[in-house]
Amino acid sequence: MTKLKTEALRKSFGELEVLKGLDLEVKEGEVVVIIGPSGSGKSTFLRCMNLLEEVSDGRVIVDDFDLTDPKQDINKIRQNVGMVFQQFNLFPHLSVMDNITMAPKQLKDLSGEDARTLAMRLLDSVGMSDKADAYPSSLSGGQKQRVAIARALAMEPDIMLFDEPTSALDPEMVGEVLAVMKKLAEDGMTMVVVTHEMGFAREMADRVIFMDEGNIVEEGRPEQLFGNPQNERTRDFLDKIL
Ligand code: ADP
Ligand code: MG
Repeated sequence: MTKLKTEALRKSFGELEVLKGLDLEVKEGEVVVIIGPSGSGKSTFLRCMNLLEEVSDGRVIVDDFDLTDPKQDINKIRQNVGMVFQQFNLFPHLSVMDNITMAPKQLKDLSGEDARTLAMRLLDSVGMSDKADAYPSSLSGGQKQRVAIARALAMEPDIMLFDEPTSALDPEMVGEVLAVMKKLAEDGMTMVVVTHEMGFAREMADRVIFMDEGNIVEEGRPEQLFGNPQNERTRDFLDKIL
């Protein structure tokens, strides 16, 4: 079953065309990793998938609902798509607990008690249950990112988008965040992950997509794309990072 689909997706900022007609289909439970040079449009592509960015042309379809249809209630559908950013984006003035319970209380009408129960279960699953009352400023980068993942999961999304979730972390903290993501993937979450962590891509991706200059240049299973890239631009990129 298809969870998320983009069709001929285009995005321009003024004169600059950043996404040049992208077709992507992500199946339920699939883990898709997107790689590519800086400025190739990876973040914009992810942001278009939940309409954090207005699309210039083409379609974004989530669970058979066309998000780009002006009549669509996109807020409702968007709740099914969780997003985790490089910079965590936790609310600094709220405790870990309140960061996690805010959206489900406001948008899902959960009672305070139900929201706290849910938050504790999620904090436990990311190994952060002892930090429920802490404030973000007292946490390490890896801890902040694990809380950010728990916060996204609190809306019970069925797709999770990750935009370079480990790029802002000190090296010793990358592993703890990737471990949480691996567990999510193993539990069957549908995931689209922009990352430079090739170990994660090799191990967890069902499919790797190489983007350059607003196009999907090449895609394949990790062993295929890393082991035997077909396109010269893919080869050049992999030579630089591997
Ligand atoms: P990546 O994530 O692959 O590094 P981005 O999607 O962030 O690439 O950016 C792709 C291109 O779009 C870059 O040239 C960037 O400068 C441009 N861009 C991104 N966001 C905006 C914006 N809000 N306004 C203007 N240009 C933007
Ligand atoms: Mg980016």
